[in-house]
Amino acid sequence: MAGVERRNPGEPEFRQAVHEVAMDIIPYISDKPIYKELMILERMTEPDRIVTFRVVWEDDRGSIRVNRGFRVQQNNAIGPYKGGIRFHPTVNQSVLKFLAFEQVFKNSLTGLPLGGGKGGSDFNPKGKSDREVMRFCQAFMTELSKHIGPNTDVPAGDIGVGAREVGYMFGQYKRLVNRFEGVLTGKALEFGGSRIRPEATGYGCVYMMQAMLAHHGESIEGRTCLVSGSGNVASYCAEKLIELGAKVVTLSDSGGFIHDKEGLTREKLAWVNELKNKRRGRIGEYVREFGGEYFEGERPWGVPCDLAFPCATQNEIEADDAATLLANNCRAIAEGANMPATPEAIKMIQNNKNLLHAPSKAANAGGVAVSGLEMSQNSLRLQWTREEVDQHLHKIISTIHDQCVEFGTAADGHIDYFKGANVAGFNKVASAMIAYGV
Ligand code: GLU
Repeated sequence: MAGVERRNPGEPEFRQAVHEVAMDIIPYISDKPIYKELMILERMTEPDRIVTFRVVWEDDRGSIRVNRGFRVQQNNAIGPYKGGIRFHPTVNQSVLKFLAFEQVFKNSLTGLPLGGGKGGSDFNPKGKSDREVMRFCQAFMTELSKHIGPNTDVPAGDIGVGAREVGYMFGQYKRLVNRFEGVLTGKALEFGGSRIRPEATGYGCVYMMQAMLAHHGESIEGRTCLVSGSGNVASYCAEKLIELGAKVVTLSDSGGFIHDKEGLTREKLAWVNELKNKRRGRIGEYVREFGGEYFEGERPWGVPCDLAFPCATQNEIEADDAATLLANNCRAIAEGANMPATPEAIKMIQNNKNLLHAPSKAANAGGVAVSGLEMSQNSLRLQWTREEVDQHLHKIISTIHDQCVEFGTAADGHIDYFKGANVAGFNKVASAMIAYGV
């Protein structure tokens, strides 16, 4: 994969994501000459196109602000480009390319007809007024609208982009093109959203953990869980865990983590959601309300646990965190965030066959899967019930689990969920690319 190194200087996150996939795919295709002949993997590492644009908006003081917007359209072999939009100061081309690349495999794994893409901006919504966020979203969509469409590219939310931002962007798109169509997912129920979409990534992560444990004759009930993050993914992950009888003892944000030995409850979680979504406060405030301890500037991985759910951001589990989780006999990890473990951490975990580890491509596919279901409902011009959507989500995650087992089981019976997800995700996209010719 020397071409990837040469063509992508200064893009460490993207190279990390490609390397992690290539390690599994290269051996898998070594006896399948057609893949090499047609350069399938190399072609998959090069985005179909990247659109970058200037986003100009006016802040509340009347000053003009400039940000950069991106949309990485990675691969549409099996469906329209599909993937979220991230607003965060760390957003750059490398981060979005890694996310778009991962998205291709993840979306393929869902079994739905979805290609892969990702977009975003280095805009920081933190500390901005509601009107500033609105003006930014409108300016961002004014340009993005030229490159997307319900059969072309269907963005959604990600870090920094939730229901509010999707609403502003959808409103602007509708104004600009004068059509009401399912161009974004994660919409509110009133204008074409799907039930369970807000919950889907967190729930899916727990369903994946459930499937993985059930396959080994175990369950979630009564287990002590670490959850990192406190946004959409983390909060619904924690909610589902509590519902299933687990004890969730941590949450975090970029400032630090809280440890509540008693365990979170539905009520405490509702307070956190209010804090994060309405007051846009910091997780440290939790201890003033409910007690427990706050560890400023730290991540939760040192707290003894049975199950870990990294639901914050990329590379949040480093080698020493993995070593601590292993030393504390953590039984399983399900990745709610995209690529939350560094390559060194993954290697360390994989060398220890007692720890089950579901990669983000499988464990957080629930979000985009329900986005796919939102697209189906928009095309059908109807809305399914909670039960219907949840049933679909369960089925999709259990199929993802089965694919990981099918392609990831080694001769000694150990399941490498990373390999399983990579190979299964690759197969479908590769077959389509071969069918299309060069
Ligand atoms: N941002 C989410 C992800 O990383 C969801 C994408 C979508 O729904 O399109 O998969």
